[in-house]
Amino acid sequence: MRIVKREVAPRNSGWSSDIRAGQVLRLEARTIIDFVAFDLHQFAECFDQARTKEASGCIYLRRGDAVLSRSSKHLMTMLADGFEGLGTHDMQFGMCSRARHERAAAEGRLSEYLHAELAVPTHGCAENLTAACAPWGIPYIGIPSPINFFQNMAIDQATGRMQRTQVRPDTPVAVDLLAERDLLVAFSACPDKASRTGGLEVVASILDP
Ligand SMILES: [Zn+2]
Repeated sequence: MRIVKREVAPRNSGWSSDIRAGQVLRLEARTIIDFVAFDLHQFAECFDQARTKEASGCIYLRRGDAVLSRSSKHLMTMLADGFEGLGTHDMQFGMCSRARHERAAAEGRLSEYLHAELAVPTHGCAENLTAACAPWGIPYIGIPSPINFFQNMAIDQATGRMQRTQVRPDTPVAVDLLAERDLLVAFSACPDKASRTGGLEVVASILDP
C-alpha cells in the first residue's frame, strides 16, 4: 500500500482528516487513542459503540470486526491489530476531559488516573476531539463516545466493575482500519494518566490500496 498522508499528533492533542472509501487508516502508538468516525457526507451517521458491539457479539473491537454507525451503516473494518495477544481495545468508556480530571481530584481518586509526579492536565480527549472536529462544523455534543484503542480494561463479569490497567504496547504498534465509505476520522492522543508513560504521540497514516 502507498502512503498518501503521514502526520504525528503530539501527546494530548487532536487530529482529523477525510478519508476515501477503500483507503486504509493506520494508527501507530503506545498510548491510548480516543477514535471516532463520521460518514463524510452525513455527520449524524457517526460511530456507535452499542451497535458495533451488538454486531460482533463482543465488547472489544477485534481484527475483522465492523465499525458501525448509529443506523448500522458499515463505516470501517479493522484489518490488522498489532495489540492482538497483548491487550484489548475498549468500547465502554467515553473520553477523559478537564472536568473528569478535576472530578478525580475532588473525589480523592487522583491516584487512579494520575502519576503523583504529573500535574493535572488542563485539557483531555474531549477538548482535543472538539478542537479536531470544529473545522468540520461538528460541536462537542455531536462527538460520539469513542473506540479507545490500546485502553486495556479489567472487567469483572459478576459485578460489572471496570478498572483501568497499565497494559499498553511496550513499543509502538499499529492498527489498520479500512474505510468502507467516505469518512471523516478524528482522534485524540490521550494524556493517558493510567499508563506508565503518561501518554505519548500518535502517528496517523492514510494508505492507498
Ligand atoms: Zn483521554
